[in-house]
Amino acid sequence: MQRIDPREWLRYGSFADLFTARNHSPDFNGARAERIALRVEVLSLVAGLLTLAWIPLDLLFLAEPGRDGVVALRVATGLAFLLLAGWRRRRHVLFCARLRLAAFILVPALFYAGARFILAAEDPDTGIVVGYYFLPYLMVSILAIFPLTLVEGVAGVLVVGATLAMAELEAGRLTELTTLAEFWLLGLLAAIVVWVQQSQLYMLLRLYREATRDALTGLFNRRALLAEMERARQDCHRNREPLSVLLFDLDLFKRINDTHGHLTGDAVLADFARVLRGVCDRDCLLARYGGEEFLVALPGRDAADARGLAETVRAETRERGVAAEDGTAVGYTVSVGVAQVAEGEDVVELLSRVDQALYQAKEGGRDLVAEATIDG
Ligand code: GH3
Ligand code: MG
Ligand code: MG
Repeated sequence: MQRIDPREWLRYGSFADLFTARNHSPDFNGARAERIALRVEVLSLVAGLLTLAWIPLDLLFLAEPGRDGVVALRVATGLAFLLLAGWRRRRHVLFCARLRLAAFILVPALFYAGARFILAAEDPDTGIVVGYYFLPYLMVSILAIFPLTLVEGVAGVLVVGATLAMAELEAGRLTELTTLAEFWLLGLLAAIVVWVQQSQLYMLLRLYREATRDALTGLFNRRALLAEMERARQDCHRNREPLSVLLFDLDLFKRINDTHGHLTGDAVLADFARVLRGVCDRDCLLARYGGEEFLVALPGRDAADARGLAETVRAETRERGVAAEDGTAVGYTVSVGVAQVAEGEDVVELLSRVDQALYQAKEGGRDLVAEATIDG
């Protein structure tokens, strides 16, 4: 299968994106990871407190010898949940979010397996013991609140199913009719849960695309760009790496609109976005900054690299021609401002400097690249 460029998938969003995260863009992975992490935190806090709050009931209603074992298990499980609730680091990394989710499934799975083992001698249909047998259904149901891909969702419910199977095997009831009924019910519930997860992911993908991408070009819109740039600035600062930006403005674009019509103008904008995609690699942030203005941020690259890239784009653009409605080829040119982030400078200041550089390129006669000085 051909891999889609992560910056492209939003334009061609397909059902394959519901199955795996293979073609999800890095920024979407970050946004989804944060959602998953936050939900795990909240749910773990609630689960941790409820697990501990149930201890007095176990002490009152469970008989020896199982009672002390179950209470000890509860304390360990409650503390594990609370630890998970307090783990805040690297929320926006998908790998870490998956680890959190795996822990959130494994902690109650171990609790369930342990409790079944300790309470093996008790009658499963009486008193407080019944509650322990509900746990797999509860675990599967809770997974419905996560926006997961099919692969992730199925993996999650399989872990719960395997835990139930092991507990029944240990109890010597794996082949009994009641056990089959249990699996039937769990399977049904799991199917509904995976469906809900898929709907959540689908909604998230669509809303995320509409909130962060420009409809005409598929590039980041201004709002998403500012958020991504702030993150890139912080990363580059932490790693002591440079960060450069290029601001592009198509020359005399209004004239193209006035002469050939807005549709041709739109075709030129889409064509220029293709030039940017062709020239920039996957680490670049590409955005439609305004009407006929585009911005490229280059994490890890200095002003000299940025200038080289700007010249490449400018030269490539001069060679392009877009077919107007009457069939004539419409050429266009671009002016570019280039700037490298200065020590202690924030994104707004950087953008202001690169805007001034672009202004100089326009003043110099257009179809030019101008570099910003450090003090503006
Ligand atoms: P300069 O070289 O100084 O930048 O001149 P310009 O004509 O490019 O600049 P100006 O700011 O005067 O015009 C920008 C034009 O871009 C005006 C606006 O109608 C057009 N525009 C903005 N957004 C779109 C769009 O989405 N589609 C089309 N077709 N035109 C757009
Ligand atoms: Mg402009
Ligand atoms: Mg312009």
